[in-house]
This record gives sequence, C-alpha cells and structure tokens, in this order.
Amino acid sequence: MYRLIIYSIFFSALWSCKETVNKEKISVKVVPEFTANQLEIIEGDTALPFRVLKITNREDSLLLREESQRVSFASGDSILQVFEKRLIATLKDSSSLGVGIAAPQVGILKNIICVQRFDKEEEPFEVYYNPIIKQYSKKTQPCREGCLSIPGRMDTLTVRSYAILLEYDDVLGKHQYEMVEDFTAVIFQHEIDHLKGILYTDYLHEKAHAEGVKHGHHKNS
Ligand SMILES: [Zn+2]
Repeated sequence: MYRLIIYSIFFSALWSCKETVNKEKISVKVVPEFTANQLEIIEGDTALPFRVLKITNREDSLLLREESQRVSFASGDSILQVFEKRLIATLKDSSSLGVGIAAPQVGILKNIICVQRFDKEEEPFEVYYNPIIKQYSKKTQPCREGCLSIPGRMDTLTVRSYAILLEYDDVLGKHQYEMVEDFTAVIFQHEIDHLKGILYTDYLHEKAHAEGVKHGHHKNS
C-alpha cells in the first residue's frame, strides 16, 4: 500500500514536472541569438532599407563567404518582425529593386531569406526561416541572374533546377514543405546558396551559356 502511494506521488510529480516544461515552452519567449552587433544592424525604422554588402568591398566580400546559422525563434518576436520588414524594404528600395535577398547580404549570418513570389497572385515578398532544399528536379532551366551584392553584371546560368522541394519555417513559426517551380525556384536556389556563402558567379566556370537564352526576368537578387 505504501509502495502504491509512493509510486503515485512519484508519477504525479513526474506529470506535473512535464506540464511545467510544456507551459514554459509556450510562455517563455525564445529570443534569437543575435549578437549586439547584429542587433545594431537590425534595429531601426521598419521602412528603412539595410545597406547591402557588395563583393567590391573587401570586408563585405569576406562576410558574404561565411556560412549562416539556423534561427530559433518564436513567432511574433518583435526583432524578427523588424528584420522581416526591413528586408522587404531593402528589396523594394529604388537603388536595389531586387527579387530576393538573404540575411548575410545585409551582414546578418542567419538562415533567413526574402523572396518575391512570382508564382503567387500579386507577387508578394515573403520571408522564410531556415530554408533547405530537400529535392532538386533533374530538369534544369536556363536563367539570367544578377545579385544585389555583385554590382554591374548579369549572367546566364544553366545549373538551376526547374523545380525544388523546399522545407522551411514560415513567419508564424510553422514548419512547412512546399514544391516551387519555374523562375521563383531559381530565386530560392540563389538565396539559399547565399546562406552557404555561395555566389551565383561560382557556377560560371562550370558552364555558362551567355547566348541564345531568352528569359523574361532580368532582375537582381
Ligand atoms: Zn544574390
């Protein structure tokens, strides 16, 4: 009998402990591990574009080759909301006019990208956390690419897959899988490369056909 009581106390203690942990998970805000320097870059008016790092600047070019880190976050985190808005403002900025941007391009080495969704109505700019390409189609598509960090040039790549299976966390923190095709899939491939320190020009020595390719999009990302 005593043993039974002890067991039940033990298990109820375990149970209440588990409950506390769950409650904490919900109530405690997970703050992304931004450094003081990163916070200094991010904080500001949400309409204010970021300075875009360029390969023509020596310090910038080193940062652009770094690998970015995973983001742990709680949806609605105010600093992330500021970052999302300023990333979009950077793309819409008249001096950039891009179709996609990755966080390392503004000096934040985190796995965050912003992509203009040409495959959606009204072509919105959307932010994605921890994006990974799970599958690449064998079918490729030639595409003319530019990069906000590589001023003054555009090149045609033939290495981009026509379709990709994407895994990411959305702005609400929901884990998602999505198949993306066509030009929008190229933007995702370009931006996710940035998270690994890869620039589109790295593919040029492999094989570039600069001629005979017609494509409607000629914008920077
Ligand atoms: Zn780029």
